Amino acid sequence: MVDRLACLAMDQEDPLRAFREEFALPEDEIYLVGNSLGAPPRTAAERVRQAVEDEWGRHLVGGWNEAGWYAQPLTTGDRLAPLIGAGPGEVVAGNTTSIAVYQAVNAAMRLRPGRDVIVVDRGNFPTDNYMIEGLGELRDIGEGRFDDAACVLLSEVDYRTGARYDVPEVTARVQEAGALMIWDVCHSVGALRVDVSAADFAVGCTYKYLNGGPGAPAFLRVHPRHQATAENVLSGWYGHAEPFAFEPGFRRADGIRRFTVSTPHVLSFAALEAALDMWERVDLDQVRAKSMALTSLFIDLVGDRLELASPRDPERRGSQVSFYHHDGYPVMRALIDHGVHGDFRAPDILRFGFAPLYTRYVDVWNAAQTVAEVLEKELWREDRYAVRLAVT
Ligand SMILES: *Cc1c(COP(=O)(O)O)cnc(C)c1O
Repeated sequence: MVDRLACLAMDQEDPLRAFREEFALPEDEIYLVGNSLGAPPRTAAERVRQAVEDEWGRHLVGGWNEAGWYAQPLTTGDRLAPLIGAGPGEVVAGNTTSIAVYQAVNAAMRLRPGRDVIVVDRGNFPTDNYMIEGLGELRDIGEGRFDDAACVLLSEVDYRTGARYDVPEVTARVQEAGALMIWDVCHSVGALRVDVSAADFAVGCTYKYLNGGPGAPAFLRVHPRHQATAENVLSGWYGHAEPFAFEPGFRRADGIRRFTVSTPHVLSFAALEAALDMWERVDLDQVRAKSMALTSLFIDLVGDRLELASPRDPERRGSQVSFYHHDGYPVMRALIDHGVHGDFRAPDILRFGFAPLYTRYVDVWNAAQTVAEVLEKELWREDRYAVRLAVT
């Protein structure tokens, strides 16, 4: 069995170890929630200051031209593309994942007139299913039928259990049945080598493993084969062929710009750009290898103290480990109080996310020790841990 010294040695050997220094993280806490909100790159504050003082402060409205704000949805989209296996001109950044889901499903429905079934996973992150209620008849993937479906909307990695779909296999099966495949990569981008190149649409957020910051822009990828025909249901002025012609009616832009909606969130883009400067230096194969090692180590160290909710095979899971516990909420509150930050998902899931750029093997060791202590001494039974906070 691995011990603490072995973990320290693994950290020494870790090819990604230098990245941890690039993040602002509290020294005495173990942060295992990078799957929900990634830690800030140290350069983010300076980049946002630049956007406020040097761009906004100096150029004022001229920033739209002078500082490249106008093109941000496309230029940042191109920087995100390699992280999901896409090419330039295929991705727009902006808005939120919920909005991108709505755009993608609407576009898919219009590309498949006569089919009104949308296949989803009932375990999808709720917003994905909420957003498309009323757009078609929702059917669960468990029924395994795609022949009358317009599209299939799935998360590559399940937010609750961390279970991972086989993207190439599912994409091929869906497309063979004549349906369009839409992947949500919120819980996989930045955690593994995502490749949704064959899919028709993909959506994702940048504030989880990509460290873009709270409220960071989301993204939407449209396969080149659909760009001439797919329509953006949210026909805002940014996606107009000539936004500054201020014509009375909407006329679609060519190419991926047609999927932009409205004014980009410039200050949020600034923080995301700082993160992308870092991601451009990251080897995603190293990220995936370390992610599998960290999560497997945590599963081994926690052992049978908790019932595993995630797949045991590292190939079949993303970068999180989840366990079931009947009193999951107070257990997680107690863990946080003892310096191990995971989160709780109703009704009974304890989640621990392992962001490979800043999580060390020794953190895994220490976190598992704390889990053992909180459970064995039943520290979670203190009354104050039962009080629910607004965000769990
Ligand atoms: C995090 C997450 C979202 C978040 O949606 P927002 O619109 O950014 O609030 C959506 N879908 C999935 C699968 C997620 O993991």
